[in-house]
Amino acid sequence: MSYSLPQIEWFAKPDPATGESGLRFQCTMCGNCCSGPEGYVLVDDKEAAAFAAHFGLAVQDFLAQYTRSTVAGRSLIEKTTSYGNDCIFLDREKIPGKAVCGLYELRPKQCRTWPFWKSLLVSRKRWELAARMCPGINKGPRFEPDEILKRRDVIDI
Ligand code: SF4
Repeated sequence: MSYSLPQIEWFAKPDPATGESGLRFQCTMCGNCCSGPEGYVLVDDKEAAAFAAHFGLAVQDFLAQYTRSTVAGRSLIEKTTSYGNDCIFLDREKIPGKAVCGLYELRPKQCRTWPFWKSLLVSRKRWELAARMCPGINKGPRFEPDEILKRRDVIDI
């Protein structure tokens, strides 16, 4: 009988440079992840219903007004600003010099789990590539591997 060993994720092993396992992240509210080139912010049915209730809209009306269909699924729309394509709910006015989610409590899973996405956690190289765009990566408190896995497995992106 043969046994396969469970895969140990790279972020669960000590970083040769720091001796730490896990990953650090703290948002600086720069807005980079909510802007730039055209992208998508996926919303599922439950999230759409919560947004619709917030605006006092029927779900269908919310979907028609604030979302669009993409290859990845239904996404919030964007608005063109001098920064690029901002998420429709990105607020650059509330805190001077910062960009924050205007509906933070309702933010979709895609936003809640950033930057612990499967696509970024495939390798340290990919993680470090994301750090070039997101100044919050590798800063702030350390997330334990278990917590990272919990967040990673919330959404397939
Ligand atoms: S790019 Fe990173 S630091 Fe900037 S708003 Fe997004 S999560 Fe925060």
